[in-house]
Amino acid sequence: MPNIVRVRYAPSPTGYPHVGNIRTALFNWLFARHHGGSFIVRIEDTDVTRKVEGAVEAILDGLRWLGLDWDEGPEVDGKYGPYFQSQRLERYQEAARRLAAQGDAYYCYCSPQRLEEMRAEQARRKQPPGYDRRCRGLSQEERAEKEAEGVTPVVRFKTPLEGQTGCNDLIRGEVVFENNLIDDFVLLKSDGYPTYHLANAVDDHFMEISHVLRAEEWLSSTPRHLLLYRALGFEPPQFAHLPMLLGTDRSKLSKRHGAVSITEYREQGYLPETMVNFLALLGWSLDDTTELLSRDELIKSFSLERVSRTAAIFNQDKLSWMNGVYLRRLSAEEFTRRCLPFLDKGLPAEVKRPLPVDYIRQILPLVQERAKTLTEVAGLAEFFFVQQPDYDASLLISKGMSRETTIRALEAARLKLEPLADFDAGPLEAVLRPLAENLGLKTGQLFGALRVATTGQTAAPPLFQTMVVLGKERCLSRVEAALEKLASRAS
Ligand code: GLU
Repeated sequence: MPNIVRVRYAPSPTGYPHVGNIRTALFNWLFARHHGGSFIVRIEDTDVTRKVEGAVEAILDGLRWLGLDWDEGPEVDGKYGPYFQSQRLERYQEAARRLAAQGDAYYCYCSPQRLEEMRAEQARRKQPPGYDRRCRGLSQEERAEKEAEGVTPVVRFKTPLEGQTGCNDLIRGEVVFENNLIDDFVLLKSDGYPTYHLANAVDDHFMEISHVLRAEEWLSSTPRHLLLYRALGFEPPQFAHLPMLLGTDRSKLSKRHGAVSITEYREQGYLPETMVNFLALLGWSLDDTTELLSRDELIKSFSLERVSRTAAIFNQDKLSWMNGVYLRRLSAEEFTRRCLPFLDKGLPAEVKRPLPVDYIRQILPLVQERAKTLTEVAGLAEFFFVQQPDYDASLLISKGMSRETTIRALEAARLKLEPLADFDAGPLEAVLRPLAENLGLKTGQLFGALRVATTGQTAAPPLFQTMVVLGKERCLSRVEAALEKLASRAS
């Protein structure tokens, strides 16, 4: 291991940050923190046509939300900046000029139209796509002629026609590529912008990146980068290609498998601590059994040796389970703090704003056990806020009960509740339990009817505590409303 670990996360701002991409950021961050090294964020924004407005902010917000702090990069800068490739064009142009001057690259004047035709022809002949090297051997005169015609060339790399290029990937082991399968790829486009390959290799060198940890889809680019390092006389970094991410149906993870950007998970009410834990296990594991690991435990135990080569499966059910675990672990105060913006957004408009925080403090411990996401909380807690919960009268009639027995049970309950001076869980239970017996009902039958009457739901937080928070007056008016519903329902 080199003494100084410097890794980078190099997103292209072409959209909202996909969880797969964020997994790459996380692995880099964990690796840096484990080794006491630096985590660098570099924005690869040289593909002007694919740039998406707001994408950089979304990426940085995602990192900040997850607590993946960067030592160098946008907003913090550092001595290897700037950290936006669009602000580093000079460096790439200089490298391309140097490669051309020393005979490792050449100017190509082929028009887009010619390249299009060439590709079509290759496809028709079922040949692999790739530049046919027409300009590789242009003489000085031929070049001068093209220049005189006013054609602005691109710069292409002069890939060796034979031999092999490879490296020892820290995850995949020895990887070797045949040079004759690599075409003369473009380094610099005619508008002076570099391609991904040139900019990536030049920056990894000048930013003194020690390890490149990136997704497997970039493995096929690695020989190109290695060839560039060699031609430029640079020492290559060490490479580690992270396993692919698949959905549970084993196809490449995509929108079809649910939300895919980290922004969406945040909006759906997943906790950043869940996401960090969950994403860390996509391709890495501590052992065969441990599922729950805190940020500090992850930093302490993260290593490339335990990154697998086989694809990782993104299991949405596991994510929900894990989020439930992390939600239950929050203190009541913290749970409230995290829920507030979601309640504000999720509760119906009829609920007065600003929301009553003290009342919310009483409610939330009752739903904390059941929530899987923060967005769900509004739905679970809504009946505490609205004037009257909306439900179908048939829900009031529990199994083995009729409309009449339900009416009788609720009326009897009302008579017991009305005189209660101390409307607390103990006294409530003390009057309602024996009541069920007096009425010849199972407690579940009586409590079921009361639950629906007071909450509008068949599954709700513990009944007595719920009734206490709702308060005597509201409980009685809801029982009243339930009786009215039953009375007007044809039997
Ligand atoms: N800009 C590339 C991306 O969007 C970076 C790939 C790499 O890490 O080399 O993922």
